[in-house]
Amino acid sequence: MPPPDFIPYARQHITEEDIQAVVDVLRSDWLTTGPMVERFEQAVCDYRGTRHGVAVCNGTAALHCAMHAIGIGPGDEVILPPLTFVATANAVLYLGGTPVFADVEEDTLLIDPNEVERLITPKTRAIIAVDYAGQPCDYDALRDIADRHGLWLVADACHSLGASYKGRPVGSLADLTCFSFHPVKPITTGEGGMVVTDDAQLAEAMRRYRNHGIDLEHHRRQGWGYDVLSEGRNYRLTDIQSALGLSQLRSLRQTVEARNAIASRYGARFVGSSVRLLSRNRHAGHAWHLFVVRVAKRDEVFQRLRTAGIGVNVHYRPVYQFSMYRALTDNVICPRAERAFAEILSLPVYAGLSTADVDRIAELFLSSVDA
Ligand SMILES: *Cc1c(COP(=O)(O)O)cnc(C)c1O
Repeated sequence: MPPPDFIPYARQHITEEDIQAVVDVLRSDWLTTGPMVERFEQAVCDYRGTRHGVAVCNGTAALHCAMHAIGIGPGDEVILPPLTFVATANAVLYLGGTPVFADVEEDTLLIDPNEVERLITPKTRAIIAVDYAGQPCDYDALRDIADRHGLWLVADACHSLGASYKGRPVGSLADLTCFSFHPVKPITTGEGGMVVTDDAQLAEAMRRYRNHGIDLEHHRRQGWGYDVLSEGRNYRLTDIQSALGLSQLRSLRQTVEARNAIASRYGARFVGSSVRLLSRNRHAGHAWHLFVVRVAKRDEVFQRLRTAGIGVNVHYRPVYQFSMYRALTDNVICPRAERAFAEILSLPVYAGLSTADVDRIAELFLSSVDA
C-alpha cells in the first residue's frame, strides 16, 4: 500500500449525492437491467448531443461493441495511434482484425491525420481516434479522410467526456464514441462504459451484443420465449452503477473546470523552465484527464517524485512495443511516439487536488528536473 499522504495521478470525486443515489437503488426493485440504465444513457446523450447511448460494463467493452457493430473481422485493418491504453488495440484483436499504428503529432501527441491517410489500404475499414489526455483529435481532418475513403470514424473518448472541438461536444464528432467510467476517468461508475451514436441500427446491434445477442423485443412481450439473433456477450451495466454515473454527470462540469484550473496553474508555473508542455489546439475544450509534461531524464525525475510521495505515471508505452504486439505486428516504428515515450510524465490532476498540493507538486517537479 502507498503511504497515507501519497498523491495519486488521478482519483475519483464522489459526493454525498452520489452515495445517496447508490443507496436509493439498493433499496429499489431493480439492481440491473432496470430504469436507471436507460436514464443514464439518456442523460449522457442529452449532455453530448447524440441520439443513442448503450451503457456497458467498461470502456473496453464499449470499444469491443463498437468494433463489432461496424463489422470488424479477420482481414480488416483499423488505424489507431500507438500512444493509448492497450484496450484500444485489443478491441480490434478480439474480432480478428488487425490494428495498424499511425504515428502521433509531435506537439499534441494526437493521431496525425497525414499518417492515417498514408496507411490506408484496400483492407482499411475504420479509424479509432484517441483523445489523448482529454484533448479532442483533429476531427474535421479525420472526418474528411474517413468520408473520402469510406471508413468508419470511431472515437476512443475514454479521456475526454466533457471536452469539445470547435464548439461541438465530444460524443457528436465520430460515428461511434466510446467512454470509460473507471475511477481515474472524467466520471466514474466504479467500472463502466458507454458507446454513443446517432445511428439507430448500430445502437440496436450494440444493445444486442451486450446481452448475448438476444432479440431486443422479447422483454417487451409477456411470454417466456426469446431468440438469439447473433453472437453476443454479457456486457451489461448495473442500475447501481448507472445511478452513480447519472449522479456523477451532474458534477461533471465542475470537475472539468477544476481540472482546467489545475492545468492552468501548472502551466503558469512551468513558463520559462526547461519543461515542455503539450500543445493545445486553438479550438479544443480540454477535459484534462492527464497533465502530461516532457522532460529529459524522465526516469530519474519519475523516481525522485515517487520517492517524495507524488504518484506520477507514464501514459503510454507505444502499444506495438508490448511483447504480444511485437509478435503480431511486423516491425512498426512510430518515431514521434517513441521519442515522446522516453520523455513523458503525467502529473497528478483531479478534482479535489488542492491548490497547495498543485503548488507543492510543481515545486518538487521543477527541482527534480533541475537536480
Ligand atoms: C481507460 C481506457 C480504456 C479502457 O477503459 P476501461 O473502462 O478501463 O475498460 C480504453 N482506452 C483508453 C484510451 C483508456 O484510457
